[in-house]
Amino acid sequence: MVRWALVGASTIAREWMIAAIRATGGEVVAVVSSNADRAKAFASEYKIQFATSDIETVLADRGIDAVYISTTNELHFPQALAAIAAGKHVLCEKPLALHLGDAQKMVAEADHKGVVFGTNHHLRNAGSHKAMKKAIADGLIGRPIAARVHHAVQLPSHLQGWRIDKPNAGGGVILDMAVHDADTLRFVLGENPVEVTAIGQSSGLASLGLEDGVMGIMQFQSGLIAQFHDAFTVQFAPTGFEIYGSEGCLIGTDVMTQKPIGRVILRNKDSERELPVEHRNLYETAVEAFHNAVKSGSKPAATGHDGVWSLATGLAIAESARTGNRVSVNVKAG
Ligand code: NDP
Repeated sequence: MVRWALVGASTIAREWMIAAIRATGGEVVAVVSSNADRAKAFASEYKIQFATSDIETVLADRGIDAVYISTTNELHFPQALAAIAAGKHVLCEKPLALHLGDAQKMVAEADHKGVVFGTNHHLRNAGSHKAMKKAIADGLIGRPIAARVHHAVQLPSHLQGWRIDKPNAGGGVILDMAVHDADTLRFVLGENPVEVTAIGQSSGLASLGLEDGVMGIMQFQSGLIAQFHDAFTVQFAPTGFEIYGSEGCLIGTDVMTQKPIGRVILRNKDSERELPVEHRNLYETAVEAFHNAVKSGSKPAATGHDGVWSLATGLAIAESARTGNRVSVNVKAG
């Protein structure tokens, strides 16, 4: 049994993660919020024994094995470092930090301390993306040449706080959504991006220089080019993830979502057919892998290093959108 503290009385904890921890044999024993009353109300609503506004109390508690960090993005770095220093395993929300060096430090400190450190990139746990990865590995579309990610949605009103008006909290669509595109592409393709180019927009929702839409291209090591579109302001459009190969293509529809849904069509010279997809709650898959990593030393579904790659790509996209330049994605091997 892994005993968890939640750092952040957040929507994602509320909507997905508490249930995922409980469904996979973990126990949620504490919640930390910057506001003591909110912590108390959250704990009471979700039947969590202990509520506090003091993270140190929780980190000093030897009965807590792991910490799930889902505060706003600027807080991930100091909170993760404190948790790692206290010897806790850490599952941290994306983006890991606002600066690449900070994220790299988080991963290095976790390695040094010998604790498990994971990034909560949920999409690589989707049955649809796993099916596409396998189809490529099985040679069903030949050599992947290009990809398209359609990840443009309407940001629900209850999530429109810091994402659209707090640059210092790491708001904006790039660190919120494009980092997931980078991680999912890396997972499905099994290679890393090397360069990006992007144009951002503020189409009426985000303010203070934050983007609520971005389109761009990532180029990968093999030369593959991947087009991506992320937005907070697009209503009713389906999401999608498509890979075009030398001998066929994979068309995933409704697959860039938190829900275990969506279809994948394979088209090649032999046929057009729907691939079998094993749908399972993405967050339960993530937490189960994390529990296994704590118990047996296996790897979490997305490691800290994966989080470093997605952040590096997101920061490069932001720089390209800001400067108009093509920007390299540089991450040390690991
Ligand atoms: P929320 O805005 O719901 O929560 C973030 C923080 O906001 C909380 O930690 C909380 O601070 C504070 N907060 C919550 N409610 C209130 C309130 N009523 N008044 C004042 N402050 C409040 O954000 P999300 O849950 O959407 O996102 C949290 C993190 O999770 C982000 O890093 C985001 O990128 C990530 N995320 C990841 C997803 C994934 O699928 N991997 C999906 C959604 C988000 P405090 O704890 O101090 O009370």
